[in-house]
Amino acid sequence: MPRPAEPGRAEPQTGFVHTFLPGRVVFGAGALDRVAAEVETVGVRRALVVATKSARDAADVVEVQLGDGFAGRIDGVAQHVPTAVAEHARGKARDVSADGVIAIGGGSAIGLAKAVALTSEVVIVAVPTTYAGSEMTPVWGETAGGSKTTGSDLRVLPRVVVYDPVLSQHLPKKVTAASVANAIAHCVEAVWTPKADPITEATAVEGLRALALGLRQVQTAPTDLDARSNLLYGACLAGSALATAGTGLHHKLCHLLGGTYNLPHAETHAAVLPQVARVNAPAVPQAAVRLQDALSTAGAPDLATGLFDLFAAAEIPTSLKELGLTEEQAFEAAKAFKPTDNPIPVTEDLVREILTRAWAGTRP
Ligand code: NAD
Repeated sequence: MPRPAEPGRAEPQTGFVHTFLPGRVVFGAGALDRVAAEVETVGVRRALVVATKSARDAADVVEVQLGDGFAGRIDGVAQHVPTAVAEHARGKARDVSADGVIAIGGGSAIGLAKAVALTSEVVIVAVPTTYAGSEMTPVWGETAGGSKTTGSDLRVLPRVVVYDPVLSQHLPKKVTAASVANAIAHCVEAVWTPKADPITEATAVEGLRALALGLRQVQTAPTDLDARSNLLYGACLAGSALATAGTGLHHKLCHLLGGTYNLPHAETHAAVLPQVARVNAPAVPQAAVRLQDALSTAGAPDLATGLFDLFAAAEIPTSLKELGLTEEQAFEAAKAFKPTDNPIPVTEDLVREILTRAWAGTRP
């Protein structure tokens, strides 16, 4: 007799396509010590080090490790990779004949390395210190005249990613929480984009589990290595899920809000995600149950409420009004939003409903 299906367990697969991306991950406390060896493994002889200001100490360590393989250094990066900053980095890479870039920092440092790799043959080794997940994706972005161009190109996918939780031990509480919200959005949206598949979903569910756990742990023990390891592991999975599933309604709304009204990238995710989950989850019921289980938010009746409660408990703003958006701007954004592929049709009414609730911070 066939066994009854366990609640929330896999349904029979009906066929899918999944593309695995090439790349090596080295993970663990103290992994920074292995950067030079990893750089050598991928055949880089002259490495340019690009580091965010807060990762200067780590960059010093890597510089010494590299010895003769150290070609030069750029300290300090800018958000969203302004073209002028990218041009400077490309020029520097040429001047020092770099065949590799080691990016140490968050999405901004990794984004700058990607800008160099996009127009040359350099190989990237990434050492992430936030949870944005860019290190696992072939997606690049560059900003000129206030508008951001993005694209996907395998040349910018880091060949090696070295995750060392020690480097994020002192990431400030607010930056941590916002960055985790960004990673959680990658996991949740990965189950309903047009490119979603069961392998990506499994990655996303495990990523969400680790991120939700780490976010709770880090509230009371910000420098705890287990908490930081959970978050970094979750970020790695979130980035992988984003890399294969791509983005959908949620990320597109956040980019519109960030680009038009200059809202902070990471924080915007926390306000918008529960509201998008509220409307989309019923269209992907199995995946929504798995994600809800992974959240382990006691007392939340569904995924959307679980996300909202998790963010609220971590003191991440859950309304766009707290981020400075006016209600009129929320309406304006709903009008401007261009429909996108989504499990339920994206109408202006639907977007207005999402943004009105996200603006007010209404618990789903
Ligand atoms: P970020 O790199 O600007 O870092 C956020 C802040 O954290 C900065 O102030 C930085 O100085 C600080 N910081 C970083 N590491 C630190 C450390 N170890 N200790 C203390 N402070 C530290 O931003 P982010 O949130 O990491 O990334 C956001 C950017 O990444 C955006 O531009 C976004 O578009 C991009 N992004 C790209 C992808 C992709 O696939 N291409 C994916 C996600 C995000």
